[in-house]
Amino acid sequence: MSDQDIEKLETRCPRLGSPISFQYCLISGEDDAICWKVLDCWWEIFDVEGYLKKNMSETDFNELMARAEKPKNKISSIIEIAEKAKKKLED
Ligand code: SF4
Repeated sequence: MSDQDIEKLETRCPRLGSPISFQYCLISGEDDAICWKVLDCWWEIFDVEGYLKKNMSETDFNELMARAEKPKNKISSIIEIAEKAKKKLED
């Protein structure tokens, strides 16, 4: 898939509650930067990390990786929820 095709892909934005294109995610963060949820929202649709690595400077890419919300696999999410529930019962 070309970069142009990728930028036209659409998904439902959890922040806006409506469908948006990947192109929008590239400019919807603070100061028109990439949205910090970009990995979490797109990893199931295409190789978003590969796209960003190819199209960003190494510094910008590493900075995004450091602050971006990473996708969690279902097992990790379930364990996290169970641990929170257990802690709440203990308190
Ligand atoms: S990356 Fe940001 S703007 Fe794009 S769909 Fe996710 S929350 Fe919405």
